[in-house]
Amino acid sequence: MREISMNAAHKPPLLPLDAALGQLLVAVISLNETQALPTMEADGRVLAQDVVSTLQVPAHDNSSMDGYAMRSADVQSPGALLQVAQRIPAGSVGTPLLPGTAARIFTGAPVPPGADAIVMQEDCSVEGLAQDQVRVQAVPPVGQWIRRAGEDVTHGAVVLARGLRLGPAHLGLAASIGMATLNVVRRPRVALFSTGDELVMPGTCAPQDMPPGAIYNSNRFFLNALLRRLGADVTDLGIVPDQRDATITALREAAATHDVILTSGGVSVGEEDHIKPAVQALGQLDLWQIAIKPGKPFAHGRIGAAHFIGLPGNPVSSFVTFLLLVRPFLLRLQGQTDVAIKTVAARADFTWARADKRREFLRVRRNEAGGLDLFPNQSSGVLTSAVWGDGLLDNPSGRTIAPGDTVQFVSFAEILS
Ligand code: AMP
Ligand code: MG
Repeated sequence: MREISMNAAHKPPLLPLDAALGQLLVAVISLNETQALPTMEADGRVLAQDVVSTLQVPAHDNSSMDGYAMRSADVQSPGALLQVAQRIPAGSVGTPLLPGTAARIFTGAPVPPGADAIVMQEDCSVEGLAQDQVRVQAVPPVGQWIRRAGEDVTHGAVVLARGLRLGPAHLGLAASIGMATLNVVRRPRVALFSTGDELVMPGTCAPQDMPPGAIYNSNRFFLNALLRRLGADVTDLGIVPDQRDATITALREAAATHDVILTSGGVSVGEEDHIKPAVQALGQLDLWQIAIKPGKPFAHGRIGAAHFIGLPGNPVSSFVTFLLLVRPFLLRLQGQTDVAIKTVAARADFTWARADKRREFLRVRRNEAGGLDLFPNQSSGVLTSAVWGDGLLDNPSGRTIAPGDTVQFVSFAEILS
């Protein structure tokens, strides 16, 4: 007979992370307001429009070496002597190359008509009384050291697609086709606040004067920084007292002028908190129990047109749930198409003997031997683990880890930007 424990019968099943992320993303309608930004200022923003090239790059066949442009047929064997008939620095244009002649040419300069190969200067020697002849020591294959017109970008090509998040290389490529401005999605307006009467802001009370039970508000600092890195325009509303009326007022005001309200703390099940009734009084709220560790409690709701997102209070849970759920949510809100986190295979150099029912995101660090080391304390309150670690190991539920095992890893460098 199948046994069902009392506990299992009463607790709702935990939601798999992928299902939670799927539900969250389905609820997102991307912002449709765009703005034209100088290309120089568009780093980190999401493109609202395809960028199409109206020219080819390079515009002309050009030399990739300092050397001599020639007709390869003129050099049948090493040691051929050619008359240097012209000089073409980068930025100027040569004349058609006559048979038996060569052109002194520099990197980036257009290859003159008639020339079909470049020989680098190291393979040539200058000769003749007027130093106007070049002896070519190696027979050049056709096309040697020539960058072909259009080999980087062809005319009419979509060089950057709408929905792409711009980084330094994208800005350079846009500039290379003459784009001085780019159309990007406007920044999402995010209101951030922390809940919890135990929270104290650094600077308002010295460490030696902290009352018993009080802790510093650490979540506010990393959540603020994470939001900014993701392009959000953040209104930091500080700590909202654990009182129903104050919470309702803060939420109502924030919802009127923001796209998203993000809170931390007070979403654990059965907790005496005011977030849940306050959001429910103003709009609608779903409380999820997600099958991840750290993490688990997570809330998503609506107050008017604004999204409400409630993160758990434990600092590492808050940090990790932000990266796994809020980050893709915010990127999608800005119209980014590909928001999936890409993990890579890595080797574990440690033992993890306790299999958990939930999918775990362990704080690990890459070592010089090319493997991963584990931070010894994986408690959801120990923020040191996220500083010591340089990424997360994505461990499926029910899995133990032995040294040498192949595991999935994502670096903070990839998901913190
Ligand atoms: P809660 O989710 O409100 O039950 O909080 C869980 C744990 O996280 C408690 O130990 C809280 O004191 C702690 N916590 C909640 N919010 C913060 C915060 N902003 N900074 C640091 N710790 C917090
Ligand atoms: Mg609390």
